[in-house]
Amino acid sequence: MFNLASKYLPGRVVQGLSAVYFKGLSFYNNGLRNSHSSSAEYKFEGMGVTVLPALSDNYMYLIVDENTRQAAVVDPVEPDKVLQAVERENVNLTKILTTHHHWDHAGGNQELVKKSKNTIQVFGGDDRIGALTNKVQDGDSFNIGDTKVECIYTPCHTSGHICYLVKTPCQDPVVFTGDTLFIAGCGRFFEGTAEQMCVCLLDKLGNLPGNTRVFCGHEYTLQNLKFAKHVEPNNQEIMKKIQWACDKREKGEPTVPSTISEEKLINPFMRVRETTVQHHASCSDIVETMRTIRKEKDNFK
Ligand code: ZN
Ligand code: FE
Repeated sequence: MFNLASKYLPGRVVQGLSAVYFKGLSFYNNGLRNSHSSSAEYKFEGMGVTVLPALSDNYMYLIVDENTRQAAVVDPVEPDKVLQAVERENVNLTKILTTHHHWDHAGGNQELVKKSKNTIQVFGGDDRIGALTNKVQDGDSFNIGDTKVECIYTPCHTSGHICYLVKTPCQDPVVFTGDTLFIAGCGRFFEGTAEQMCVCLLDKLGNLPGNTRVFCGHEYTLQNLKFAKHVEPNNQEIMKKIQWACDKREKGEPTVPSTISEEKLINPFMRVRETTVQHHASCSDIVETMRTIRKEKDNFK
């Protein structure tokens, strides 16, 4: 039986989530403002997501299918931490979902494959990803037990970037966005263009159902919101989110997940159609606005 939640003290309920449980005893940063986060578990109907903080501000995610106890991990840069979680939760890890080839996301693949007692399939959209066994493209899908995963190709931060959309029946979808979409921000355009990021954020991710939970690759939320406020100083949703995120970070808690609807209210890169954002960029064109505010953010302190 999948019963992670009962092992831990019930935590605070995050806005919009039906059931959220924090592992109150596993805070290892004592809530210090500039440190990384405690791990946290989010239990949805049929599927669980455990947030595993890694390095200084990365997130790895253990996805568990409730019926079969099959599990997959997103961007396991710290394999030992992943294996500890796999043991603690008594699940069967069979898949690695890699968002992109950068070291802080794919750098643990080889070691995890070697150390795991199971055969692990490694999914990703780029030949530069270590231990890759299943190269995927836009629209490809596969299962974690009874849980369906769909691949969304989002080139720009890197040319082979994939976001993973996870669905189970009767629940809100969940998307793992790596370094394409952050809470209130987006990744740098290392191997792509503003046009491509517009397609990623407005057409692909922006067209997911509004209640889709967004789990991103880094805890950059407060820095991103500072820039968002600079772009739209009169946006009250941004002000509210800053207060909420400060509160979370002071407790050492992660700020993931947000939702697609929420991003459309606070994220300047998802708001390039808005006149306030275009006015800030002195542009009237969506792509030009995207290019201009990304350039500004690259140098924003
Ligand atoms: Zn990256
Ligand atoms: Fe990264």
